[in-house]
Amino acid sequence: MHRILIAEDEPRIAAFVEEGLRACGFTTTIATDAEEALLLIRQSEFDLLILDLGLPGKDGLEVLEELRGQGESLPVIILTARDDITDKVTGFELGADDYVTKPFRFEELLARIRARLRNAASSVYVREEMVLKAGNVVLDLRTRKVRVGDRSLELPAREFTLAETFFRHPGQVLSRQQLLDHV
Ligand code: CA
Repeated sequence: MHRILIAEDEPRIAAFVEEGLRACGFTTTIATDAEEALLLIRQSEFDLLILDLGLPGKDGLEVLEELRGQGESLPVIILTARDDITDKVTGFELGADDYVTKPFRFEELLARIRARLRNAASSVYVREEMVLKAGNVVLDLRTRKVRVGDRSLELPAREFTLAETFFRHPGQVLSRQQLLDHV
């Protein structure tokens, strides 16, 4: 189930978005100001942030800048009454993934959320495919290098492929034939 953080200080809009998302099976949390949003993101895992620009305290754009500055890659959809082109450009430059201008239809927001979550899921898949982990051992499939704790070592090609096969089948017993098929 996807967890969505709604950073919005207008109770009516926050409730409207929350109700709609819950009806669609999402788990939601509301933050009513910038500091609360930043704190919640540090404390727990979310799959997406809906970010109002006009928040009390810090501006939504500052929240975005701070998150991206910390290397936080959470997908962010900006939701705002401002339709100023400068804000949009700044938002995208600061790392927003999408933009919805108020007033908006819930269906539009929902479609954009689903699109972002699909993209995020496929990029996680790509990242996972590049690096395989087991305990403190990491196989980097791009460089074909192995890291054990903080030591880096190189394996002969066949041993690397053998290791990769084991890493892709954690906890499974592989027969000689299965190994020969892979390596
Ligand atoms: Ca607001």
